[in-house]
Amino acid sequence: MPIRRLDPTTINRIAAGEVIERPAAAVKELVENALDAGARRIGVTIEGGGIGRIEVTDDGHGIPEAELPLAIERHATSKLTDEALVRIATLGFRGEALPSIGAAGRLSVTSRPAGQDSAARIVVDGGAVREVEPVAGPVGTSVIVEDLFHATPARRKFLRSAGSEAAACADAVRHLALAAPGVGFSLTIDGATSFDLPPQDRRGRVAAIYGRGDAEKLLEIEAVREEVVLRGFISPASLTRATGRHQHMVVNGRPVRDPLLRMALRLAYRERIPAGRHPLAALWLEIPPEMLDVNVHPAKAELRFAAPEAVRSLMIGAVQRALAIPAELAVAPSVSLPRAGWATAPMPRAARGFAEAELRGLDLPPGRVVPEVLPEVRPEYPLGTPIAQVFDTYILAQSGDGTLVLVDQHAAHERLTEIRLRAERDSGVIPAQALLAPAVVELGAEDIARLLGAAGRLAGLGLEIEAFGPGAVLVRAVPAALMRADPSGLVRDVADTLAESGTATALEVRLDAVLIRMACHRSVRAGRRLAFAEMEALLRAMETTPLAQTCPHGRPTVLRLTQGDLERMFGRAG
Ligand code: ADP
Ligand code: MG
Repeated sequence: MPIRRLDPTTINRIAAGEVIERPAAAVKELVENALDAGARRIGVTIEGGGIGRIEVTDDGHGIPEAELPLAIERHATSKLTDEALVRIATLGFRGEALPSIGAAGRLSVTSRPAGQDSAARIVVDGGAVREVEPVAGPVGTSVIVEDLFHATPARRKFLRSAGSEAAACADAVRHLALAAPGVGFSLTIDGATSFDLPPQDRRGRVAAIYGRGDAEKLLEIEAVREEVVLRGFISPASLTRATGRHQHMVVNGRPVRDPLLRMALRLAYRERIPAGRHPLAALWLEIPPEMLDVNVHPAKAELRFAAPEAVRSLMIGAVQRALAIPAELAVAPSVSLPRAGWATAPMPRAARGFAEAELRGLDLPPGRVVPEVLPEVRPEYPLGTPIAQVFDTYILAQSGDGTLVLVDQHAAHERLTEIRLRAERDSGVIPAQALLAPAVVELGAEDIARLLGAAGRLAGLGLEIEAFGPGAVLVRAVPAALMRADPSGLVRDVADTLAESGTATALEVRLDAVLIRMACHRSVRAGRRLAFAEMEALLRAMETTPLAQTCPHGRPTVLRLTQGDLERMFGRAG
């Protein structure tokens, strides 16, 4: 075949593959256009996961009738004033979003600038442009996308369920709403209002997006280094989620999902929160534009920093300072502390806020005995007798044959809980424990819909929930093994798990993930001081549980150092 030039429709469809990966990307582009147009109020409506219909309405400056055909043309933009791509003050600049959406689905743009008598509309369907026609309409712009990806079936195949796509759309709108707190935002999904927010300051917007309960616990952070400013809110180590879905970063007003920033956040919390858990964060970074390249990624979600190290250390420093605020120390610990061995240092902050750990089923004696002398080493136990807890994370034990045993308390307990839940499930049903007072958990409309959709199967796992008004579910029972779990945290984790998995995942696999997450949710945390009796109970339970030597995520729960190993390490052995 000879070389030929592709026609514009094909070029736009190819671009659509990069710019509009999924409905949430279209939502993001349309809302960014509304923000660039100086809107004070933006309304977003999603139907059928955004594949069916997306509508974004704003009261911004509008598009003059004569410019409508240009707006949907590729590489046509009213925004780029700095052709060197350094000082980009708008969210958009590539002139690619509208043509890409119009190539993949049916796009209709209705707009009326303040000075124009009536509105005008242009429609593009699968790349075919129709005439501009006058219509009635208010000042501002309304963009409707229908049947997204009907013209690009290859892409459509890769979409997840409507529920997952709707969740991703909602996450995108929440992220944008945090990026522009001064703009009113409403979101409606399949006819139900998810939120309707007035113009707010950052703190008010954070409370609206994260919910009052969580927002009250957030710590404020601030760091300034030369012209780089980082401000925002992060969760204390005691408040984590099952996924990173609740981390929102905004760089120079642009909502981003930048790997460098996410990694910096992860590093800042490392050792303070259990592996696999994620903090909440809403962070705004202001950085001189010449230190930033926003033109790295077609969807503009990733950035390139001229001084990545400086940004990383600014973030880690600010987060770690906030996590160490002494105010948190004022909270009384909810566990009694043994005073033997190493146990004299103040309890780490990471442990605060966790309710008393659930060690039910491990034959824990009532009341905690604090031994004055170290327990005697008994030869019959393979994992030995606990002699100390170090870093409030590892149990140190000595076995009868002189081996030094190290156990990761969180990983080990998580594994035991998971094995128990699994065994209970495989034997029929996981016993449910009715709550004395059913708990009301406030959640977003999409999360509620997904939870209720899975309610029957969740009941089989011992988690009984039902609808409770428009913005909440009622938890009637939790798995008996997790009896003392905080029902709200548990249900949120399950909602996040359901939001993450798509249609391709069989429900059983998904429920398996729910199960592992439930186990993790209630397992004794790293950073919690254990009484000797608790350590003892954990070690004994591990000995009688096959498979207890690795955690559900495949990491080891036990390490052993023999006397020979120690001698070699100290250079004593020949
Ligand atoms: P970009 O945002 O990169 O310029 P788009 O394809 O998203 O590219 O939009 C093309 C142009 O259409 C914009 O430059 C802008 O002039 C106009 N436009 C799009 N959406 C709106 C809107 N909601 N209000 C006003 N103008 C808009
Ligand atoms: Mg744009």
